[in-house]
Amino acid sequence: MRFDVITLFPELFAPFLQVGITRRAFESGQVEVHLHNPRDFAEGNYRRVDDRPFGGGPGMVMMAEPLRLTLEHIRSQRADSAPLVLFSPIGQTIQHAGVAQWAQGSGAILLCGRYEGVDQRFIDKFVDLQLSIGDFVLSGGEIPAMALLDAVARLQPGVLTDAQSHQLDSFNPDLGGLLDCPHYTRPEVWEGEGVPDVLLSGHHQNIARWRREQNLTLTATHRVDLLEQARRQGSLTPADERYLRSLAPAAPKTL
Ligand code: SAH
Repeated sequence: MRFDVITLFPELFAPFLQVGITRRAFESGQVEVHLHNPRDFAEGNYRRVDDRPFGGGPGMVMMAEPLRLTLEHIRSQRADSAPLVLFSPIGQTIQHAGVAQWAQGSGAILLCGRYEGVDQRFIDKFVDLQLSIGDFVLSGGEIPAMALLDAVARLQPGVLTDAQSHQLDSFNPDLGGLLDCPHYTRPEVWEGEGVPDVLLSGHHQNIARWRREQNLTLTATHRVDLLEQARRQGSLTPADERYLRSLAPAAPKTL
């Protein structure tokens, strides 16, 4: 798959693409990332990419024409008609299900806004989809773009080893969309605190049951909405329901 990223700060992506478990996916081309700076397509000595907003007010607005030229260049390099995604607080918040779809697709063109945002005429004419990473405002779309690329890359076959399998991660349908269980590592005693005995028992079945119970406990405690969703989707077994009923009254009342 191929992602073309339109950004005024391509240098922000270099370290991101070169480290960690996702590096292999980016370097092997499993997830191709091409960076494009609208400044390279802007005219005049100053290669201007932003200007003051009509109607006055603070900040600057990204100009439509350098973006149009950048997009034209990208379209000429791509054989498909990949969607143009703008990162914006207006968009729907990125969720696991959406990421899983992107992870199986052929890619997209990602537009990172800066300043007050992008000239609305460009959005109306060219943008297919707007995506947000939450109800707060960042100074640019680069971090949202990296968030999406990272999440997509780690779902690629072979990026995580079996032991790190994303199937046991939070929100994964294989886990019923529940939250991940707690993890512990050496030493066995740290600052006087031990680890749950079952994890040292070597008894795989008991460990699996404990982990499932932790998935249920954590989800019931922190994200009762996800627990209800799992129930609606038929992802909770009779044993899960029994366990949930046995939880201390501290668990949310909606149970
Ligand atoms: N004036 C805009 C914010 C602009 S922030 C507003 O109030 O809605 C500059 C750029 O950062 C945006 O164009 C967008 O690309 C990016 N951005 C900021 N917050 C974001 C968020 N929560 N999700 C995705 N992108 C975001």
